[in-house]
Amino acid sequence: MLENIIEFKQKLIEEKNRIEMELRKIASQDSDGDYKAEFEDYGREREDNASEIENYTVNLGVTESLETELEKIKLALKKIENGTYGKCEKCNKDIPKKRLEAYPAAQNCVDCK
Ligand SMILES: [Zn+2]
Repeated sequence: MLENIIEFKQKLIEEKNRIEMELRKIASQDSDGDYKAEFEDYGREREDNASEIENYTVNLGVTESLETELEKIKLALKKIENGTYGKCEKCNKDIPKKRLEAYPAAQNCVDCK
């Protein structure tokens, strides 16, 4: 067990809040809690439609990667609650503290990454 787990928890919560804020800017949440990229209507002109689609495509990709990241953070927070935080998912060894400091939501050690 890491001695400064509270710090990691704090970092994870901050990161979770930041990601949720980013997601709210570009996506809306459905009743299941899934985020859906928003399609913004700029107007009816041809170039409006082109930028709508371009913007939507970008939002789709960003929403997806933010959501993936959010899931990892939620999982890490759950692990803190049940005392398994900092263990590699694959080999069950401790993930080096340095790695967790750089990336608190890490699920695997460097060897198993
Ligand atoms: Zn491992």
